[in-house]
Order: sequence, then C-alpha cells, then structure tokens
Amino acid sequence: MIVLGLDMGTTRCKASCIDATGQPQIVANRRGDLYTPSAIFFEDGRKPIVGVEALAEGLLQPEHVHTCFKRVLGSSDVLYTDVDGKAYTATDFQSIMIRAIKEDVEQRFNEEVDEVVITVPANFQDHKKQATIDAAQAAGLTVKKLLHEPTAAGIAYALDKKQDRCFVVYDLGGGTFDVSVMQTQGDSITVLNSTGRERLGGEDFNLCLEQAVVEQFAKDNGYTPTMDKDPLFFQELSEKVENAKIALSTKSQTRIVIGCRGQQSIVPITRDQFESLTKVLLKDTLDCTNQAVKEAGKSWSDIDTIIMVGGAVRMPAVQTALADISGIVPHCDIEPDRAVCYGAASQCAMELAKSGKTLMIGGRAIPTPKAFVQEVTAYGVGCCVAAKDGSLSNAVILPKGTALPTTRTDRFCLLHESQTEARIEILQGQEGNPRDECLSIGEIVLANLPVEHQKTKRIEIQYELDNNGMIRASGRDLVGGEYVEIAIDYCQGTKQQSTSQHAA
Ligand code: AMP
Repeated sequence: MIVLGLDMGTTRCKASCIDATGQPQIVANRRGDLYTPSAIFFEDGRKPIVGVEALAEGLLQPEHVHTCFKRVLGSSDVLYTDVDGKAYTATDFQSIMIRAIKEDVEQRFNEEVDEVVITVPANFQDHKKQATIDAAQAAGLTVKKLLHEPTAAGIAYALDKKQDRCFVVYDLGGGTFDVSVMQTQGDSITVLNSTGRERLGGEDFNLCLEQAVVEQFAKDNGYTPTMDKDPLFFQELSEKVENAKIALSTKSQTRIVIGCRGQQSIVPITRDQFESLTKVLLKDTLDCTNQAVKEAGKSWSDIDTIIMVGGAVRMPAVQTALADISGIVPHCDIEPDRAVCYGAASQCAMELAKSGKTLMIGGRAIPTPKAFVQEVTAYGVGCCVAAKDGSLSNAVILPKGTALPTTRTDRFCLLHESQTEARIEILQGQEGNPRDECLSIGEIVLANLPVEHQKTKRIEIQYELDNNGMIRASGRDLVGGEYVEIAIDYCQGTKQQSTSQHAA
C-alpha cells in the first residue's frame, strides 16, 4: 500500500511516501533525482515529456518548453495546441506532471497508487485548488486532501520534534511565498494564521538578476536582446542566472558569460549586488511575516522557533533578515526542500487512519503518525453589499483565519422595499473595494420575492467551507421561503454549477 504526498512546486515537484519505519521519505524519480523540474516539452509536437529532459530539449527549442504553469493554474487559457489540434491548459499540464510522478512512484514500488495528498500555497484561490483536484483526477489519483504548503511543513516539524511550541513557518519556494503561524500542543497542531504572496518566489529573484544582465549586455554590445527575436538567449540566460543565484548562496561572487548574435558579455556579480537587486522582494516577505504574527494575535516574544522551508531560503540574506526582524535565529532542522513533501505524506497516512484503514508494507502494519490538524482560511469570504449612496463593499461573513471546516450565516436587508429579486455576489477577499481587492466567485439569484413594506433582514446567506477550504453557498428569503444553493464551478472562473431552488 502506498501513501503518497505530492509537493507540486512552481519550479520543482517532489513525491514522498511513508516507509516501513513509519517515516516519510522522498521518492526518487526514474532518473534517480529527488525532484522533477516542473517543465513540459512536446516531442514531435505531440508526445509530452517532463522534467530534466523537457528542459534539455528546451535549450534548443525554447518556444516549445513550458514552465511556471502553476502560476496560471485554473485559467481556461490554452497554453499549447499540439500537431493534432489537441489544446492544453495549465490544468492539463499539471495533470501531465502528476501522472509522470505517479508512474515513477509506481515503477519504483511496483505497485499502483490511487490516493494522494497534494500541497498548495496557503493563499491559493479556490479555482486553483479545484484545478489541482481536477488535474490529479485526470492523472488517475483521488485527492484525499489539499494541504497548505506551510501547514505541511509545520506538520513535518511537529511530528519530528514532538514538543509543545509556537512557531512560524517561512516558506519561500520557486513561485510562491507563504507564511504560517502555528502552535502544537500534545497531538494537536493548530494553524493560527496563514498568509502569503501568490507570485513571489525564487523565480522572481532570478528575474531581477536576468534584467540586470540584459542591461549590462546592452551596455557592452549596443544591442538589447528581446524575447521575440532571441528566445535562445533568454533560455540560456535563465539557466545561467539560476546557477549564478545558487552559487551566490555559498560564494561572495560569481560571473555570468552570455552571448547573443556573435557578441558576448562577461557580467561579474557579487552577493551584495544580488541582494541589493532583490531587496524589495525580500522586504515584501518580511512585511508579510510580521503581519502574519500580528494577525495571529502574537508578538515575536511568543514565538519559539522559525522554520525555514522552500529552496529559496538557502539565500543567506533570508536567514539574516529573519533574525533581524524577530530576534530569533531561524533554522532548517527539517530539510527546507523536503519538509512540505514529508508533511503531505504524513497527512496522507493520517487520512488513511481516519478512514479506518491500516497502512501495510511488506505484510506488516506500519504505525501511522498521530496528530489532529486544525487549519484556517487564508481568505475572507463575503458578499457584495451596496450602501444607500450606491457605494459597494464586501460584507465579510467568513473572516480570514476562520478554523476549517466551518459554516457561517448572516442576514441582510434588500436595498429597496419594492425589490422582487436579489442578486448576491459571492466575494473572496477582505473587507474593502469588491472590484479591486476581491475575487467574484459566484452569484446566487433569489427571484419572485414578495414585496414587504418593512425593511427587515430577510435575506439569509450561508457559506460552508470544507476541509480543503472550498465553498458551498446558499441564500434564503425568510419572507417568501425562496431558497437557492450553489456549488461553485471554477472551471470558467465564476460559473454556477448546481442550483437547487425551492420555496420552503
Ligand atoms: P522549491 O519550490 O522549494 O523546490 O524551491 C525552488 C526554488 O528554490 C527555486 O527558485 C530555486 O532557484 C531555489 N533554490 C534552490 N536551491 C537554492 C540555493 N542554494 N540558493 C538559492 N536559491 C535556491
């Protein structure tokens, strides 16, 4: 029996299973590597190949290699059409990656896998979560749970240390930044707060360096390469910049040698220069971290430890800056590259135990990790309401940081007494301007409302969030009894999927 945890990163994917001693281990892919780059290339314009091989092909045909598609997961945009006219979205790409990793695991253990826990960024919007579930399903896997990445790392840490602690998980991966404040007490692991940036990761640090190298190249050679005209230059540059960034984590200087159209530049770069180019990004993560601690109702003096996870925390500036803001020396007690994936496998084992099954390996029952994990929402959920002056706002029904699963209800008045229809727009986000700061994720329409000449809070809205943070919503007119319930279909952005409508 295989208990599988997947960390589907923006730049690298990892798989982990529980071994015969009950501990999570990373499962090497068919090449023997501990991770698979999140990259896809279509051989002969048709057959997808993934990982290192895809990146290698991309060096010659950069326009045909696809990377960083996790950033647009959930969008219906077609990213590639193959020679047979088959269209691929980011969800299809993610599914190809998941299938490849599943097959590698199956090949290694000579056994089929059908259930999985997949980690996602803490602030992943619901349509992206749904796309992750769909991608796994299309790859032949049932998702037992989507686990927030920093929570997964926190679980791995808590199960490893078995001490009562209040700690911060600072997770800087390839494409996203997440931070969680967590507390452990006995077998219970509670997430007090989670926040992050959906588009801030090691890739963005690379982009700052890439830009500086392009500027230097232009200065040296009087020609500015562009993505349209010089795709090979940019493909080579991205590989060299990645290597230079990693070198600067252990060396104080390095250089990038790059050529284009018969011209060449040798660009020396010091760690100080790199840190100065990227200081805005780092500051953003620190602001987020301070905010997470504050929103958890804690101050730094309440925090025992900072756990650093994600490959990009290997940049020395991260550790120094975290120590500066917190007065705590952060540590990587648990391998930063592996913690999230370890947590996913442990959670999968816990899901198995919850369903009353015993993990068997080689005919032996394996002890499963024991913990009760309490998650919170990383977003508020509310509905769009209008004031008398016509200004709109998000009336938050489920505030950010609400423990999952949960159900909350609130009641509202109609705007005009003569109104016979109410359109309730469901918003994901915090209080504030619904148009700029919130995502509209669905609409409930209550029709045929009897006119009532008194202004009462007659419209009842209920939101239900499941363990994965996915929403179900309903609206009821307490006067006429009209009732509408919707499950949200994220495939097309914000479409209603099922509407059951009846008068009570
Ligand atoms: P993850 O999603 O956790 O696998 O992290 C991937 C990110 O970590 C990529 O942006 C890598 O460039 C970055 N990374 C990995 N190792 C290092 C290192 N030694 N120094 C700086 N960044 C690194």
